[in-house]
Amino acid sequence: MTVNLLDYDLEGLAVFCERLGEKRYRAVQLFRWIHQKGASSFDEMTDLAKSFREKLKMSAHIKALDVISQHISSDGTIKWLFSVGGGDAVESVFIPEDDRGTLCISSQAGCAVGCRFCSTGHQGFSRNLKTGEILAQLWFAEHFLRTRFNKVERVISNVVMMGMGEPLQNYTELVPALRVMLDDHGYGLSRRRVTVSTSGVVPMMDRLALDCPVALAVSLHAPDDVLRDNLVPLNKKYPIAELLDACNRYLVHAPRDFITFEYCMLDGVNDQVDHANQLVSLVRKHSSGGVWCKFNLIPFNPFPASGLTCSSPAQVKTFASILSAAGIVTTIRKTRGDDIDAACGQLAGDVKDRTGISQRIARQRTFMLKPISAESK
Ligand code: SAH
Ligand code: SF4
Repeated sequence: MTVNLLDYDLEGLAVFCERLGEKRYRAVQLFRWIHQKGASSFDEMTDLAKSFREKLKMSAHIKALDVISQHISSDGTIKWLFSVGGGDAVESVFIPEDDRGTLCISSQAGCAVGCRFCSTGHQGFSRNLKTGEILAQLWFAEHFLRTRFNKVERVISNVVMMGMGEPLQNYTELVPALRVMLDDHGYGLSRRRVTVSTSGVVPMMDRLALDCPVALAVSLHAPDDVLRDNLVPLNKKYPIAELLDACNRYLVHAPRDFITFEYCMLDGVNDQVDHANQLVSLVRKHSSGGVWCKFNLIPFNPFPASGLTCSSPAQVKTFASILSAAGIVTTIRKTRGDDIDAACGQLAGDVKDRTGISQRIARQRTFMLKPISAESK
């Protein structure tokens, strides 16, 4: 079996080239062909020696993911559903804005954390994506968009790991993918423009701080452990105090001087005035001077199995104003691409997850989100 070169960061590719009896620096050329020029065949790589290309053909391939569907919204948002084999599918969403283009990427097929308000969580865990499958979403989207917009330079300026899955439970495959995103010979994104979103896998937050400290978003969703245990089961393992300590440790290495807390607004569950006041106290208690976090309130995108509903816009506003009044920068996430959300329904049944539940719900969930880094540059 030949190897998929999308699975390698630059160092991995250099080792691979050495194994083929080639000089390490050849990897840079090869890497640029793949990620910067979007080459998928070795014949395109005209400045590589023919003998090298022949060796590559024998031992490697460049394989992206099969696109199951693509929907383009009137607001320019594009979502893709990719097959990852075995009946599993993952989603990516491109959100264009005036000054940036953000791609939301998936890290796993399904998710083992099982948050109550998340359809991916309800779906259960299927498997980790390989580095190449994480990167294939970016590779495909970037080169598709360049062609679509007739551009030679970069279209995607920001990446957020906020699609399906818990990225820090797929750490080994995630980190090389992040490195390719940051590599000047790859996508050349700055660490501030790549965001990992986590439900709070504390030990892996510490490792990420050392291995690849990109921007961090933490899905908080509750001000106390009793409520958070119920909404985000991982809290039983890593309770809020430990999580916030880890956030503070991360800040020492982070590319920004704040952590973004995501907070999904659930009617009557975590959206009361008391909850907002408790959050303010929590932030103050864990602050070693000054406010070190931002809040991004996400209107809940409902799905029947959750039994939950979204807070009213007025409640979301009241909640936001309490945090803001306490000096915490707070944004309310806007929804994008509403019109193609409807089109999602047409795909129901095309792709089933292991439990037989339509993937449509999971797609809707990801799709409705406007990634935070797009708002807090
Ligand atoms: N597993 C990671 C990243 C993927 S989820 C995490 O949990 O952070 C990305 C964001 O979407 C998280 O903040 C998550 O809480 C939020 N989310 C999940 N389901 C949602 C829903 N139904 N409505 C609104 N936001 C949701
Ligand atoms: Fe997994 Fe994130 Fe969904 Fe929780 S919110 S189940 S961690 S994808």
